[in-house]
Amino acid sequence: MNQKTVPQEVLNTFFPGTSLADVRSYGDGHINDTFLVEASGSSGSGKFILQRINSEIFQHPEELMENIQGVTGWLRKKITEEGGDPARETLNLRLTADGKPIFKDASGGYWRVYDFIENTSCFSQSESAEDFYQSALSFGHFQRLLADYPAHTLHETIPHFHDTPVRFATFEKAVAADSAGRADSVREEIAFVTARREYVHTLVDKQASGILPLRVTHNDTKLNNILIDNETGKGICVIDLDTVMPGLSVNDFGDSIRFGASTGAEDEPDLTKVSCSLELFEAYTKGFLEGCGGALTPAELDSLIDGAIMMTLECGIRFLTDHLEGDHYFKIHRENHNLDRARTQFKLVSDMEAKRSDMEAIVKKLAAELC
Ligand code: ATP
Ligand code: MG
Ligand code: MG
Repeated sequence: MNQKTVPQEVLNTFFPGTSLADVRSYGDGHINDTFLVEASGSSGSGKFILQRINSEIFQHPEELMENIQGVTGWLRKKITEEGGDPARETLNLRLTADGKPIFKDASGGYWRVYDFIENTSCFSQSESAEDFYQSALSFGHFQRLLADYPAHTLHETIPHFHDTPVRFATFEKAVAADSAGRADSVREEIAFVTARREYVHTLVDKQASGILPLRVTHNDTKLNNILIDNETGKGICVIDLDTVMPGLSVNDFGDSIRFGASTGAEDEPDLTKVSCSLELFEAYTKGFLEGCGGALTPAELDSLIDGAIMMTLECGIRFLTDHLEGDHYFKIHRENHNLDRARTQFKLVSDMEAKRSDMEAIVKKLAAELC
């Protein structure tokens, strides 16, 4: 089947009795196939987002949808209790005629439908510290609304996603195997990682011992996973919930800092252009703490910076591992692309390590004001 077409059985299942359905490709997502459906008929009219779930990446789509149904139901209840607008401030699933959130077509494709949220925009890159702050507010707000959700009941849609010691072990195996014959040319980078052998355990150990609580995490906290209201310019809805999993709040925070507070592109070959901007770090931290509204524990506040360093180190380890294994996982567009990516991450790690006391001062000041 052409992935860009929607089988009639899918439309019949989600929109029974629909006399007219205009269906077209929509948005700039890279993972799922996304369509905008304009339907009218006896089962209701309106605009909807129809998605074919990427089941190569997500191998248990039913479990993923169980997570999304649980989390969006919870958000809807909380938003209603707080006097918000649940039709705009959370994704809302449209169920099949027999009450299911997912449908498997005859050729094995998995489909789901959300109500379309009108009058919003999605930006692929933050243009300013203000955009970054707005995204932090939204992800913090998401964390606050889900603070008492039983996170352990969620499925791990990608097992060991932020298990940094496991990533480290995979890296060590790749060094030992040296299947692409590149280990000798990257001794410096290998040494950078192995010098942090103990450090990679910091957060998982705190989670295992109960110092850091298990939370509902989003795991794809990019700016374009937030819908921004066209009138107010404010983030109103966190979308793209495929990677919602049990995890650490500081990892969601840290991943945002990793890509959003860097002064250079993720694959910038000129490392003099790559550093962690304290201005952007402060903007995001302010928004996140404001959004969280006191939901974070003191131990989480103390671990925010480790979240940023850990996510950056982990990402660098993954790029370097892929370089050592011959570039099987991340697509490359030039020679040594994954090595360049690993180097930007390690440069950021060093820079954050050097700026740790400045970053701590920022967190302390903002926590005193906002928590
Ligand atoms: P990514 O590459 O970020 O993983 P994806 O393939 O998982 O993306 P989504 O982020 O879920 O896809 O959706 C793609 C785009 O569709 C979004 O960026 C947004 O523009 C739009 N979109 C998704 N859901 C809605 C909705 N309920 N209302 C309006 N627009 C939406
Ligand atoms: Mg997305
Ligand atoms: Mg996605």
